[in-house]
Amino acid sequence: MGKAMVDALAAASALVAGVSASVMVWRSWRRMRGWGRVMRILEELEEGFATPVERLRQIVDAMAIEMHAGLVSEGGSKLKMLVTYVHDLPTGDEKGIFYALDLGGTNFRVVRVVLDSRRSAISGHDVHRQPIPQNLMSSTSEELFDFIALSLKSFVERVENVSDPSQLERRDLGFTFSFPVKQTSSSSGNLIRWTKGFSVSDMVGKNVSEVLQQAINRKGLNMRVAVLVNDTVGTLALSNYHDEDTVAAVIFGTGTNACYLEQTEAVIKCQSLRKNSGRTAVNIEWGNFWSSHLPRTSYDAGLDSDTPNPNEQCFEKMISGMYLGDIVRRVILKMSQESDFFGHSSSKLHVPFILRTPLMAAMHGDDSPDLTAVAAILDDVFEIPDAPPHVRKLVVKVCDSVTRRAARLAAAGVVGILKKVGRDGSSSSSSLGNSSCRRRRAEGDGGRRRTVVAVEGGLYKNYGGFRECLTETIDEILGENYSRRVVIKQMEDGSGIGAALLAAAAAAST
Ligand code: ADP
Ligand code: MG
Repeated sequence: MGKAMVDALAAASALVAGVSASVMVWRSWRRMRGWGRVMRILEELEEGFATPVERLRQIVDAMAIEMHAGLVSEGGSKLKMLVTYVHDLPTGDEKGIFYALDLGGTNFRVVRVVLDSRRSAISGHDVHRQPIPQNLMSSTSEELFDFIALSLKSFVERVENVSDPSQLERRDLGFTFSFPVKQTSSSSGNLIRWTKGFSVSDMVGKNVSEVLQQAINRKGLNMRVAVLVNDTVGTLALSNYHDEDTVAAVIFGTGTNACYLEQTEAVIKCQSLRKNSGRTAVNIEWGNFWSSHLPRTSYDAGLDSDTPNPNEQCFEKMISGMYLGDIVRRVILKMSQESDFFGHSSSKLHVPFILRTPLMAAMHGDDSPDLTAVAAILDDVFEIPDAPPHVRKLVVKVCDSVTRRAARLAAAGVVGILKKVGRDGSSSSSSLGNSSCRRRRAEGDGGRRRTVVAVEGGLYKNYGGFRECLTETIDEILGENYSRRVVIKQMEDGSGIGAALLAAAAAAST
């Protein structure tokens, strides 16, 4: 090889080295730029989702005010404040065998309870849980309720050990139906609208108990739908059965909702009710709560427009299990569009609701040193392989922001109820209605009573990060002194067992 050739090769390789060095510099600069954009998205998320305690107190006030408005007149608030006609909670004297069906959102439960007339002594209960097939969520009412009645029949055959349940003595059944219902009595009511992804359109406006009773009759079961309740009311009944200081029950599952015990005289919109004295359970339907103080972002607006019920249930869409995973997906999608940290735009990131909340919770709770669960879930769900460590950490931060906002807003909702009933330690609660003021005087203890709030639902039960942040935030809002009087009690299958107890209470009073 001549010297000229050697010189040319040396020059060429110097050029290649120079070019590849500048490509690397350019790539890392681009990556840095991308990282800067991703960091900005994270900062904006944290700002947009911010829930300082002052803001939470405004939400507490708004919740209490809206509750009051919803009690004054029909349509007076986005909170429906549904009258349940449940005045007589189970006393503990009930006796016998009772059934319940619990149709929530994701799972469906059949429950059998044996009562032996000693409070706190439910002699036994069986629960059968099964997921609701996706296709039935948008089928016909007959198909949906035939499926439910068939599950009930198989359960009865198994627990009673009979092959023909029509021969059994007639049993009373409580039906927990956790969608907005306009009750006409404690045992009947019409569906106002579906939530949580259901859309069985021929069902809207129908009497829910009647549709179930017909399906039960078609299956030849000897059962009577004795009460129709919401999951919140079932949970309230069970918690109150064991602990009379229970004033409210809240659900954090597929959806979210709450009910509480109100003075009947405060339910101004329902004249017939006001003749009774004492307390009555009110189903707040708080999933539809709205206040300008809520920290709503473009992610929430995008999610809302991808649901079958846009502009409804906006509080629920920031809080409950059906939605949290999808908020995280939307943030990651935005980050992937602004950088190449998530590979070249995984198409799975565009699929609404592909990231389920249990998997989001698993990423959030990943305590392995190199976040292997996060990497595995990013790969399985979004087909993003080999996410580098800083990207895994980033995803955990996104999950944390989404869950913190949800839990802190949920906590404000709970304190809002306490404020409405004069159990939040503030003196201004009485301005919302004389009843709470009078009641506190009647208690003669300066409002020092223990207050129990029952909580149930798969999100609360299974997602430690959500649960801990919720209870800590309730303490933060109430302040150390007052929060000691408020007990958050986790219930298990309360919505179903409580409905069976209410069926028992209804049977005892007829
Ligand atoms: P439903 O609301 O249908 O009555 P559940 O109370 O059992 O049913 O709640 C189920 C919901 O709870 C699921 O849709 C899911 O969003 C949430 N969930 C269940 N397990 C977990 C988990 N490990 N982490 C976070 N959320 C969970
Ligand atoms: Mg439920």
